[in-house]
Amino acid sequence: MAMHKRLYNVGAILKGLSITLRFMFARKPTVQYPSVRKQHAPRFHGLHELRRYDDGKERCIGCELCSSACPANAITVIGAENAPGDRKSPGERYAARYEIDELRCIFCGMCEEACPTDAIVLTPRFEMSDFRRGSFIYAKDRLLVPADGGVGTPPDERPGGIPADLGGVAGKKSTLDVGSGYDATYNGSLLKTQRKGLTG
Ligand code: SF4
Ligand code: SF4
Repeated sequence: MAMHKRLYNVGAILKGLSITLRFMFARKPTVQYPSVRKQHAPRFHGLHELRRYDDGKERCIGCELCSSACPANAITVIGAENAPGDRKSPGERYAARYEIDELRCIFCGMCEEACPTDAIVLTPRFEMSDFRRGSFIYAKDRLLVPADGGVGTPPDERPGGIPADLGGVAGKKSTLDVGSGYDATYNGSLLKTQRKGLTG
């Protein structure tokens, strides 16, 4: 092999090693999730929530515009008339049923754009993993901001930040212990026990 070819090879190896060495001492981009959590981009699109007005009334008026705008057909809204003595929203109607299938959702934010009352918003929450498809259908019990959860304020403007577990989602979801398999639970009821295939 010609001398210049050998020198070229040595140079290429040294160049490769220098890159390795540089990254060995560079600041690592990975974080020790879940004990360390990375700050999201301000406009990150995660799990939805349904907001309320300052007086506690639901912003959603059951108009179904979000459902029509959704390109993934992920939203189901069934509106109903407000009863005079028990108004759920300031409008004539409210959402008697409101569901989002988060497995269909592509987190595009079109529902947020379409909503005339700023009722539906996407938050930076992203921890939704589960073992059952059904648990990804979020209904009002898990979407509607509870009375003490920052009523009237968009999620990214709340002084206390965004509640990590709106609607007690974590308590309702499955639990996983990779050492001993997992127990799939929902609302405290055991749905399935899996002991194989997760260890080793
Ligand atoms: S974020 Fe997009 S895909 Fe998801 S529910 Fe809203 S409109 Fe549909
Ligand atoms: S969330 Fe907004 S767009 Fe969707 S039904 Fe309610 S008011 Fe209409």
